[in-house]
Amino acid sequence: MSELPVLPSSLLPTDGRFGAGPSRVRPEQIDALISAGPGLLGTSHRQAPVRHLVGGIREGLAEFFDLPDGYEIILGLGGASTFWDSAAFSLVRRRAQHLSFGEFGSKFAQVTDKAPHLERSDILRADPGSRPVGPEPREGIDVYAWPQNETSTGVIMDVARPVGTDTDALTVIDATSAAGGMHVDASQTDVYYFSPQKNFGSDGGIWFAAVSPAALERISEISRSDRWIPDVLSLATAVDNARKNQTYNTPALAGLVMLDQQVRWLNDNGGMKWAAGHTRATSSLVYDWAERTPSATPFVVDPAYRSPVVCTIDFDDTVDAARVLAVLRANGVVDVDPYRKLGRNQLRIATFASVPAGDVEALLACIDWTLENALS
Ligand SMILES: *Cc1c(COP(=O)(O)O)cnc(C)c1O
Repeated sequence: MSELPVLPSSLLPTDGRFGAGPSRVRPEQIDALISAGPGLLGTSHRQAPVRHLVGGIREGLAEFFDLPDGYEIILGLGGASTFWDSAAFSLVRRRAQHLSFGEFGSKFAQVTDKAPHLERSDILRADPGSRPVGPEPREGIDVYAWPQNETSTGVIMDVARPVGTDTDALTVIDATSAAGGMHVDASQTDVYYFSPQKNFGSDGGIWFAAVSPAALERISEISRSDRWIPDVLSLATAVDNARKNQTYNTPALAGLVMLDQQVRWLNDNGGMKWAAGHTRATSSLVYDWAERTPSATPFVVDPAYRSPVVCTIDFDDTVDAARVLAVLRANGVVDVDPYRKLGRNQLRIATFASVPAGDVEALLACIDWTLENALS
């Protein structure tokens, strides 16, 4: 194979990371890590310095999401995928309804569907690139669950409680790639959970959730029942520990430092309103480019469904997306690969909160240059 072409250096972004998670870490987050040095890294998570750090993150997230009275930020190890198992044990009383329109929504649906202590789940499906109309209130459903941003396809779903549900049913939102980059009215959710390696530019392996008083009550009710719940997955245990600014088992401290810096940065910049406006603007650069580029089209046909944080762009058969990806990667512009199982001739570009407009423009210029000069 011939060597891959070198892109003109004047076109390159300042930072070539456009992945949908792990995502770019801002230099200030690395600086925070260095300052955290001996005073915090390598010290006990049961002592004041780390507990203070966790407390600061919980407060900062509560401010960012403008949490209503009585809502709390809880956390636990393992990430969003682990949270699905925790939810099957600690949130679903008997039966969940899921909206499934991509990999992530579908995986959570499988978890509750297979859990032997629960009834088979009610799964409302739509093809990748589209989405179901919305949750459908039904007798006997005690959890309604869907992703706000389906990261595998770049389709968003509104976050609003299903109308006409049992007052007792919980709305549980996978906000892994939405939180920190999209608007949410937290009062429309009971559990709004995420991993911090997307808009928050931190490390994975941990989850955070904003939980409502009703969700706290449900967690407590189920923990008092005779259901067996593994300790590491128990949300009642997570709540008890979170209230002490701790986790049940040992967290990775570096990720907490980077997350803390990002939450402060977001809040100092204008919080959720700023972040949502910023990602709307940067994603529009990508979608507008795809609309005017003859060989490209936004994968998500309905503009109202298009994600402001994960832009999926299809190429026609005059362009080999794999070749474009290879040229970009050889030049340090990385991770715009499509979701592996989707199997499309596509680029997936994350426009998370940390990605500046200038870098998005530079990325698009690099793609244009590749289309013109380096397709074969
Ligand atoms: C990335 C992602 C997940 C999985 O997160 P992990 O931290 O890898 O478990 C789940 N849901 C959505 C919507 C995601 O984007």
